[in-house]
Amino acid sequence: MELETIIGLEIHAQLSTKTKLFCSCDNDAFGAPPNTRVCPVCMGFPGMLPVLNDEALQKGVRGAAALGCEIQAFSKFDRKNYFYPDLPTGYQISQFDQPVSLDGEVSVDFEGEIKKFRINRVHIENDAGKLSHNQSGTYCDYNRAGTPLVEIVTEPDLRSPEEARMLAQEIQKILRSVGTSDADMEKGMMRFDASISLRPKGEDKLYPRTEIKNLNSFSALFKALKFEQKKQIKLWGENNAPTGETTVGWMDEKEETKLLRDKESAMDYRYFPEPDLPPVTFDSDQIKAIEADLPELPLTKKQRYVEKLGLTEAEALKLAESPELYDFFESACEHFSGKPKKVANSFLSIVLAETDWEKSQITPEGLSQTLELQEAGKISSTAAKEIILKIMKEGGSAEDIMDNLGLEQKSDTGEIEAWVDQVMAENQNVVEDIKNGKDKGIQFLMGQVMKLSRGSANPGVVMGVLKTKIN
Ligand code: ZN
Ligand code: MN
Repeated sequence: MELETIIGLEIHAQLSTKTKLFCSCDNDAFGAPPNTRVCPVCMGFPGMLPVLNDEALQKGVRGAAALGCEIQAFSKFDRKNYFYPDLPTGYQISQFDQPVSLDGEVSVDFEGEIKKFRINRVHIENDAGKLSHNQSGTYCDYNRAGTPLVEIVTEPDLRSPEEARMLAQEIQKILRSVGTSDADMEKGMMRFDASISLRPKGEDKLYPRTEIKNLNSFSALFKALKFEQKKQIKLWGENNAPTGETTVGWMDEKEETKLLRDKESAMDYRYFPEPDLPPVTFDSDQIKAIEADLPELPLTKKQRYVEKLGLTEAEALKLAESPELYDFFESACEHFSGKPKKVANSFLSIVLAETDWEKSQITPEGLSQTLELQEAGKISSTAAKEIILKIMKEGGSAEDIMDNLGLEQKSDTGEIEAWVDQVMAENQNVVEDIKNGKDKGIQFLMGQVMKLSRGSANPGVVMGVLKTKIN
C-alpha cells in the first residue's frame, strides 16, 4: 500500500517589541540574570491588569498580512487555563475562536517549483517562563513570561519533512523581512510544533496524528519528522496504524521522540474570554493600509534578482535571505548603477566571506566607490579587494586608500618599461624560452611585473610592452 505523509506546523515567533505583551517589562531578556525582567502583571499578582502593547499588535498583524492572512475586523483575547510552574498567572492569554487573522497562503520555491501552502490562522499570545533542571532541583526564570508571540498555524498541506523545513525557513525570512520577529532560533525566538500522520494514497480522510512539541531548530524539525514518519510507516506496514492522537517530545541527543501524553491524558484548557482586555478592532481603511505598507517579500525579491538583475539562483537566494543583506546590496547597487552583477560578486565573495562582516566598517557607498575605481580602470581587481578589506577593518574612503597605498594602476609606459626591463634582465632564461616558442613564459613575466608594481601596473599595457620588447 502506498502511503502519503500529512504534516502541519504550529510556529511560535517572538515579536520584536521593546516591551512585553501586557506590561512594560523589557522584552529583550536574553542573557539577563533570572527574574530581573518581571513585574506584578507578568507575574500574575492579585489585582494586576494587563494592557495590550500596541507595538506587538501592529507587528503581529503586519506579519500575518505578509503571510497572506486576512486581518479580522473583530478579534478578542481568551484565557487558556492550565497549571504548570513556568506559568505564573495559571493561564495563558491567547486567542481562541476569534483570532486577529485567518486564511493565509505562503509560496515556497521547492527545488525550482513554486508550491503554495495554506495558513489556517495567525494569532497573538504571551509566552511562559523557563524552567531549568539540574541535580539540585528545578529553577524558574520568569524573564520570558509575558513575552509577545505570534502563533502561526498551517493547514496540513505539507507532504514531506523536506517541505516542512522549507516552509519553516520561508516563514522565518518573511517575518524578518517585515520586522515582525528577529526569529533567531539560537535565542529561542522561533519554535515549532509539528503534527504528522499517514494515510493510504488517494484517501481524503485524516488519520490520528502525532504532535511533536517544541522543536527549536530547522534540523530538529526535520529530523523529528523523519523519525516519526519512519516509525509510522513501520506501524502501518505491521497493520498497527496509530488509533489515537499522541504528543511527543524530541530528544536532540538521542535523536528520537519520547511520549509526553496520549489521548486519554489530553489537556482541557477550559478557554474563556479574557475579561480584562477589550476586543481588538480594525476598520477596512486600517486593514488596507497595513496591506499596502508591506515591502517586497523574500521570494519575489529572489525572483526579481534572477530575472531582472541577471544574478544566479544561488546569489539571489543568498542576497534575498535577510534585510541586512538585501538592504546593503540594493543600496550599493543604487550608487553603482547598472552593474548589480558586479556588486553581488564582490559583496558575496569579499565582504560576506569575512566573519562578522556586519560589524565591519564597510558601507554600501564604500563598496560601490571601490567598484567605480575598478570600473574606471584606475585599480586592478586585486587592488579592489585590498581596498574593500581595508575599509572593512578601518573605514575610510576608497580613493584615499588607493592613494595612500599607491594602488592606482599605472598606464604610464615609461615606468612600466623600467619594470619590464628589470624583470626581463632577471629572467633571461624565460625570455629565451619564449623566443623559442614556449609562450607560457609570458604569463610568468607578466606576474613578476605586476608583483614589482605592487599590482599598480595596468595589465594591458604591461602585456603590450612585454611583447614588443621580447620580439
Ligand atoms: Zn512585566
Ligand atoms: Mn501557542
